[in-house]
Amino acid sequence: MTPEELAAWQARKDNGRAAAKSAEVQIAAAIRDKPELIDGFRAFCARMNPYSIRNCLRIFGQNPEATHVQPRFFWGGYGRAIIDDNAAVWIMAPKVERTKTKEVENPRTGQVEEVEDTYKFWPVEDVYPASATVPKNGPCPFCNGPEGERCPDWCAVMQPQAGSAPSREDVAEALNAVLKQIGGFDPNLLHGLGPDPIDEDDGCPGVTWHNVTITKGAAKDKKPRTRRYRFIHTIDLDRPGVRYAVAGLGVIWIGPHEFRRDTGGDDAVTVQYGDDVPSDWEKPRWAWGDSAYHQAGPHAPNINGITFASYSVVYPSEDRWRWFEPWREGKGRVPETTAEQMGQVVRQLLDHYRGLVELDAIEQAGFRKRSAYRAREAEHEASRLAKREQELAQQRAEAEQRAAAQRALAEQ
Ligand SMILES: [Zn+2]
Repeated sequence: MTPEELAAWQARKDNGRAAAKSAEVQIAAAIRDKPELIDGFRAFCARMNPYSIRNCLRIFGQNPEATHVQPRFFWGGYGRAIIDDNAAVWIMAPKVERTKTKEVENPRTGQVEEVEDTYKFWPVEDVYPASATVPKNGPCPFCNGPEGERCPDWCAVMQPQAGSAPSREDVAEALNAVLKQIGGFDPNLLHGLGPDPIDEDDGCPGVTWHNVTITKGAAKDKKPRTRRYRFIHTIDLDRPGVRYAVAGLGVIWIGPHEFRRDTGGDDAVTVQYGDDVPSDWEKPRWAWGDSAYHQAGPHAPNINGITFASYSVVYPSEDRWRWFEPWREGKGRVPETTAEQMGQVVRQLLDHYRGLVELDAIEQAGFRKRSAYRAREAEHEASRLAKREQELAQQRAEAEQRAAAQRALAEQ
């Protein structure tokens, strides 16, 4: 950084700190003036999960329209780019404690001793609302919106997150801390309010994100690195299967294997990489008629620059998946290290899949589909046998006729 850049960076942070401070005081004072605003603010806090009440005051004061906010680095992990730096919302990161060692002369002994000195600070941090971000490196896996364009409001990324609201008392305590130099917040102001409209157990509606992590193996003298991906799931009982949209990775479908034997002990599951390849997608001409060529569907997952294609069949109840060798886009298998990393993701998604309350419904739908398939197969086989029987009867009748004719000739 040049001195000018450093000065600009410092000025931006100072402005941010001032914006955070004034937003916080302004909203706290507004709620003191109109205590009935407190429940709406609590609902706002629920969707800002997991930010503190005071950070929620700062966010609300700077952007009351914000639904889902994340730091810049996190949006990168969501596979998204920030397109509007001016949309920055300033918050205070949790308190940081540092220690430094000083050498101090002990007045009693006259000797120099090492003393640990702790100091605390509250770093200011910028977060960005989803509305200031766009999908990068491909279309959005949640709404299929094009790369580089703002997602529609119904896209999961734009939606508030599910969470529980803080109690009125907790908010009152935070307001008191914010307003302590200008009279504080009197908790008696809450007594005039009616019954609490927010059910603590239900929380507030919103999107629930879950995590999967990949641990990349430790090379010599290196610690293993962990990368966290956030995902949401949608259940499709017609297919049947579960669509996992994993931010920064891609789409993975998990469902009962179409040709499971249903004879007990067979719990085969199909893991499909990406959404279905549309029937009108054409293979490159050189790959026509080449069954070893695999097309990657929309939102196909990508790890280490390798795009996965087609599907794997895995047996979740088995410890080892002997045949877990996913196909890559184009020709050939995914290299072993990358396949192992996908294996980590698939195992975590399978845990989620097998823990779903809808699992029974999914399994039953799969069974019905396989039964219908087998019934069609059986019908087909029955009609094939009936036809064959007819042919045989015909042949037998003809043979008998011939035999009779031969006998008649012999008797002449
Ligand atoms: Zn989207």
